[in-house]
Amino acid sequence: MKTIGLLGGMSWQSTLSYYRAINEGVQARLGGLHSAEILLASVDFAPLEAMQQAGDWDAAADLLISAAARLQTAGAEGMLICTNTMHKVAPQIEAALDIPLLHIADATGQVLLQKNAQTVALLGTAFTMEQSFYKDRLVDKFGLRVLIPDQAQRQVVHDIIYKELCVGTIRDQSRAEYLEVIDDLVARGAEYIVLGCTEIGLLVEPHHTVARLIDTTVVHADNAVEFMLQA
Ligand code: GLU
Repeated sequence: MKTIGLLGGMSWQSTLSYYRAINEGVQARLGGLHSAEILLASVDFAPLEAMQQAGDWDAAADLLISAAARLQTAGAEGMLICTNTMHKVAPQIEAALDIPLLHIADATGQVLLQKNAQTVALLGTAFTMEQSFYKDRLVDKFGLRVLIPDQAQRQVVHDIIYKELCVGTIRDQSRAEYLEVIDDLVARGAEYIVLGCTEIGLLVEPHHTVARLIDTTVVHADNAVEFMLQA
């Protein structure tokens, strides 16, 4: 089994989901007492979030590059950035590493391709929904049409992520608001709803909606297990 390095803590709520999902995946595939070879660098999210707000992505990249380098030195053979948003600086991190970086949008795009999806909707932070680093990868590499919520809805989706989900608050009212946004996106033609923020799956689960959800945390963790167990 290859050792995977996780850049986590963004937020730690979803890093827990990654840790569980990767271990469950390895246990399901290998059985018995097998568990995943994981190295984790869990950063302090507060200064990083301030850098996001300030648009200081270079500082955020530097912080994550130094954490990634520590994981590589410790023996990681592949790397995950356990957040969609921070894939904004994936190119810099990838360039600084000698080991493969498993990109969350590629893992997501591959799953959508297997499902013959054409039109999908993207939920996530405002950075992920509005900027090109994530959306364009789904469009250019996987030929998908990507819808996003309208401005007011994007604000609601974004605020719930930072004010609630990243601090471990799960509220029925917020779930209802998300489900309303999801229903609108389905009405606009979305065949799949990409939960493009690693905490959304803590709030909206498949049994809450008839819409078809793609949870990027699950997809990314599966991708890691595949990588770890391939010969
Ligand atoms: N975990 C979230 C994501 O997947 C948001 C937190 C962050 O800004 O990294 O985008």
